[in-house]
Amino acid sequence: MEKQEKIWLEKLFDDKDIKLKHFKTLIYIFKEYNFNAYAKLDETKMMEVCEIKNKKTLNRMLNYFLENKYIKLKIGKNGLYVSLNCITDNITRNSKPRINIEKLKDREDFLTEQLFNPTCVWGNITKQKRIEIVNSYTEKEIKEILDNKKFYIDYDSFLLTPYWKVIKQILKQKHNSCQRCGSKYKLHIHHLTYNHHFYEHLFLDDLIVLCEKCHQNEHTNN
Ligand SMILES: [Zn+2]
Ligand SMILES: [Zn+2]
Repeated sequence: MEKQEKIWLEKLFDDKDIKLKHFKTLIYIFKEYNFNAYAKLDETKMMEVCEIKNKKTLNRMLNYFLENKYIKLKIGKNGLYVSLNCITDNITRNSKPRINIEKLKDREDFLTEQLFNPTCVWGNITKQKRIEIVNSYTEKEIKEILDNKKFYIDYDSFLLTPYWKVIKQILKQKHNSCQRCGSKYKLHIHHLTYNHHFYEHLFLDDLIVLCEKCHQNEHTNN
């Protein structure tokens, strides 16, 4: 059992109401999908793994985790998604996973578990190196990895990923003021199109630096 899982297990068993089969579900989600990425809620599979007989029990269990902030549920394009984000927020708040450069050798895992993990943070890797790492991925490669992993991440979580932080850094290096009015106050990055979502680093022209005010205008005018 991995160290992280062990920490959760201990924490969860502090809680008298929680049962082993419930924990098994979490581990199931954790293993089957990418840790911290949103995974599509597969009710049938979950019930199977937890030996839950009816949907009502499953809902009760999910509500329990929801109330205790162990999981987050979100409605996505194709249904309901569940994530374990909150577990890391609540239980391992002080030990955010760090980008591990050694993992670069396994590019797939590095991309999905670290670069696109909303709770992962850069360690003392230089800004230049971060850009280098992100730029080393080709559009084709990212597409393949994401398709392969049935990867899903909602937009709010995407904005927290190390990947997006690098994109913001590149854009703000290029333009240190609003590209509409020149203001330097509260700069945002705005997507002109989402056609290349998840490989923005290859299509920087899809993005524009705007101040908060111009950004608001942009959204109300469209
Ligand atoms: Zn502006
Ligand atoms: Zn925008």
